[in-house]
Amino acid sequence: MSSKRDYYEVLGVQRNATADEVRRAYRKLARQFHPDVNPGDHDAEEKFKEINEAQEVLSDPDRKAHYDRFGHQAPGGMGPDAAGGFGDLFNMFFNQGSGFTSDPRQESGRDGKDLRIDLEITLEEAARGVEKTVQISRQEQCDLCRGSGSRPGTSAQKCTACNGVGQVRHVQSTILGSFATVTPCVRCRGEGSTITSPCEKCHGNGRIRQAREKVLKVPPGVDDGMHLQMTGEGDAGMRGGRPGDLYASIHVREHPIFKRRGAELYSELPVSFLQLALGATLNVQTLSGQESLEVPPGTQTGATFRLRGKGMPDVNGRRAPGDLNVITSIKIPTKLNEEQKQALRTYASLCGEDERAGVEQEKGILGKVFDRLK
Ligand SMILES: [Zn+2]
Ligand SMILES: [Zn+2]
Repeated sequence: MSSKRDYYEVLGVQRNATADEVRRAYRKLARQFHPDVNPGDHDAEEKFKEINEAQEVLSDPDRKAHYDRFGHQAPGGMGPDAAGGFGDLFNMFFNQGSGFTSDPRQESGRDGKDLRIDLEITLEEAARGVEKTVQISRQEQCDLCRGSGSRPGTSAQKCTACNGVGQVRHVQSTILGSFATVTPCVRCRGEGSTITSPCEKCHGNGRIRQAREKVLKVPPGVDDGMHLQMTGEGDAGMRGGRPGDLYASIHVREHPIFKRRGAELYSELPVSFLQLALGATLNVQTLSGQESLEVPPGTQTGATFRLRGKGMPDVNGRRAPGDLNVITSIKIPTKLNEEQKQALRTYASLCGEDERAGVEQEKGILGKVFDRLK
């Protein structure tokens, strides 16, 4: 135990050194003897362990007081040896990388955040494509200080708390060992520099919140749940960071007539029994207006008529537009007068139909529905 060097001697500070002086001395030595800087140098590694141990004790008021009273003799098992040595400390260091050897400038810029907005459009707008003006609020670079945050003519000073690194290392001793954690510097918020004379327009922030109008070009064929991305239209970056993007989530409103699946559209065409039985020319609604549709005699309910190219366009413009599928659906009259009822009964007896027997069962709508589900 007595072969150990005095902790104050190890760090090269006076016994009455302040916490700040201890920290500065430690940092200087740690940078000098860090294993990353001295690969394979056993002496440097020993020295590094030694200064870490000294710093750990002297930076902790309780342990420092203890050390000042008892020296390396540590009644109560509070010494660093009892805390499990430094193997854990080293592992932590190498896993996290070292704050000492990295280039502080790489971490000084912060990228701007992406912005997300919701954009509701109608099915007609989705089919044709549309331009929408939206209001956004975003962080933009301050034009007075050009994002530096410093009053024009002045510049930011290197942070004294982290010495411009932007990170601070904390060593914590537990009964499981010593752990080193690297956290962003609180003083400079990880930027490595502090603004001594803030820009009057942005108050040192470097950015200002601005309301903007943006015109979004929604392409034809866009579908619910798709996103439009406008590169670089999000928040501005800080201190040279890149701007974020603007994302618009597309929501296509439910249409009263049309259902959509990809490029295909579906609609229901209510028809009477007579129109199906005798055939008819009917008007059907499409996204671009009315079209006439020939329903041949003897058409079943649930029959599908395909209107080629009357569906949705392909959003990439590579495939032909989809079709509009018009599905017939028989409407049974709910109010019949006596004369109409009599006519239907006459019709039934002409067909040899017994009112109480069902029509011969076959694979009708139900079968088709299940076929589609297969
Ligand atoms: Zn400014
Ligand atoms: Zn700092």
